Amino acid sequence: MAVSPGGRSPEAVAAGSAAPVGASAPATARHSRLTVLSGPSGVGKSTVAAALRRDHPEIWISVSVTTRSPRPGEVNGREYHFVDEGEFDRLVAAGELLEWAEFAGNKYGTPREPVRERTAAGLPTLLEIDLAGARQVRQSMPDAVLVFLAPPSWEELVRRLTGRGTEPPEVIERRLAVAKEELAAQGEFNVTLVNTSVERVCRQMVTLINSYQ
Ligand code: 5GP
Repeated sequence: MAVSPGGRSPEAVAAGSAAPVGASAPATARHSRLTVLSGPSGVGKSTVAAALRRDHPEIWISVSVTTRSPRPGEVNGREYHFVDEGEFDRLVAAGELLEWAEFAGNKYGTPREPVRERTAAGLPTLLEIDLAGARQVRQSMPDAVLVFLAPPSWEELVRRLTGRGTEPPEVIERRLAVAKEELAAQGEFNVTLVNTSVERVCRQMVTLINSYQ
């Protein structure tokens, strides 16, 4: 794990400092700090998010809206809220998205209100979004903790992006080009976690999120 100058290593955080899990926050609770997990497409962000959703239900993970079509196995309202262009544009115009970005020809955005509610209640809150979105959050919520998930190597990232087999070649090409730019953005983040194992990254994320409550 690498930590940027202003950052803090999750492993340096004492386990005893973890916030109580599961319980809803008392009325007097302080706002929690939003945690943002970002990094190149294909690095495994959504796998980490799925593992956290399964094993750590005390951490609330925002469900984004997207104009992309569902992949096999994806459930509307669980991985994403799947909407058409018209509905997405309406949400943007109404100011209902905390951030949004276009990625590989589709639009993705974070509904603002559920995030506001969770952080105001002092609950552990996580976004899993792309770099453009993470930059917007840094601007609008400077308090947010930005986590960069890095691949063990570029070769491994290419293998993961091309191995998924669910996207046409031109989509993969576009994603590789974006991923190159995204890797260079690592220094903008508070913490970098290298995705050598999903379990390890999940442990580090839980420690990190609890330490900032
Ligand atoms: P995928 O289509 O593979 O599920 O996601 C493509 C990219 O969009 C991933 O990098 C993912 O993190 C990002 N993404 C998912 N939801 C959001 C969101 O609400 N906002 C932004 N900016 N990016 C998102």
